[in-house]
Amino acid sequence: MNSDKSSTSRRIETICVHEGTRKDATFNSVTTPLYFTSTFRFEGPGQTKGYDYSRTANPTRSALEECLAAMEGGISAAATATGMAAEVTVMHLFKSGDHIIAGHDIYGGSYRLFDDVFSAHGLKFSFVDMRDPENVSRAITSATKAVWIETPSNPLLNLVDIAQVGSIARQHGLVTIVDNTFLTPYFQRPLELGADIVVHSTTKYLNGHSDVVGGAVISKTKETGDRIAALTNALGTCCSPLDAWLVLRGVKTLPCRMEVHARNAMALAEFLDARPEVARVYYPGLSSHPQHALAGKQMSGFGGMLAFDVHGGSEAAFRLIQGLELFEFAESLGGVTSLVEHPETMSHASMPEAARRAAGITEGNIRVSVGIESKDDLIEDMTRGLERGSSAG
Ligand SMILES: *Cc1c(COP(=O)(O)O)cnc(C)c1O
Repeated sequence: MNSDKSSTSRRIETICVHEGTRKDATFNSVTTPLYFTSTFRFEGPGQTKGYDYSRTANPTRSALEECLAAMEGGISAAATATGMAAEVTVMHLFKSGDHIIAGHDIYGGSYRLFDDVFSAHGLKFSFVDMRDPENVSRAITSATKAVWIETPSNPLLNLVDIAQVGSIARQHGLVTIVDNTFLTPYFQRPLELGADIVVHSTTKYLNGHSDVVGGAVISKTKETGDRIAALTNALGTCCSPLDAWLVLRGVKTLPCRMEVHARNAMALAEFLDARPEVARVYYPGLSSHPQHALAGKQMSGFGGMLAFDVHGGSEAAFRLIQGLELFEFAESLGGVTSLVEHPETMSHASMPEAARRAAGITEGNIRVSVGIESKDDLIEDMTRGLERGSSAG
């Protein structure tokens, strides 16, 4: 469909703009048309133009899938209704009795999906601290089939060495799956580091404008890609043409947005690090981050997410959050607008308290998705929040 363009030698900024375009042979539109149709006319028995029903495939969705696959360096991609739909699809590669090793501080919704939903269907999970790859080796049993990595982790920005864990997995014949939502292929390329499958919540940076929920699965091999496409069709986890179109539009500016997200996050992290109200800042770009060296090795940028602990627990955290004017008090992340949230009562409330504590999430923890506004305005607003947060206490 896109055969006149070879993406292999192109750089990601170019791929983001050009891949998945040139769909319109009728009017030569420069952007990808939005194909709002559930079904496609057959020209004769078995004769179609490559599409028969939009759950199976839709040209707008195919355009996004080609773009995402090229960005991650995979062979194919499946664009799904949400990030969770991408995870549900991937988990159907496994069957009852299979054992999967996941990080102990993964996204709260992923934890709930594994621990609550798929456990009830006979899949078994071990949640281990993957900062030490030895913990992965130790958790492997004869039933283990896969390793689920999320790096940087949510909300504390712990890192997992993808190459090292991937190599342990490979030695044992396990599938390595990486949730690359936080950094996107602009800053981290898991397939090149040895992963087999990448999943995304495109809701976040890939779309980038807080106006879509979506997800994606990118496969390294044709065999996996074909199975994922068959599962997406069978399960009905695909995304709508409109959502595909919006994400495809968002992706075109991903490199520019990620540069600004990372620049602003670095400035805010350094600012917070110097404040007396703040007990600790979590950002891989700070040299004080315990895995700063690994960040420099496997990431080409430090991303737009950071977290920090304020003295005074939940109450101080809420006072600070309510003292902010620019940062929106909201879940989710990765959009152009700066957001703050309280993992203890929001994004990670679906985790049992013991699991939250084991993951190091405290009551005074605040997660920030740093947007692309002026960094000076963001720092001014955070100054206001910190002052209000500590004064009322
Ligand atoms: C948001 C998120 C998900 C889930 O994606 P949805 O689009 O909300 O379903 C999965 N993993 C990570 C890291 C996320 O941030």
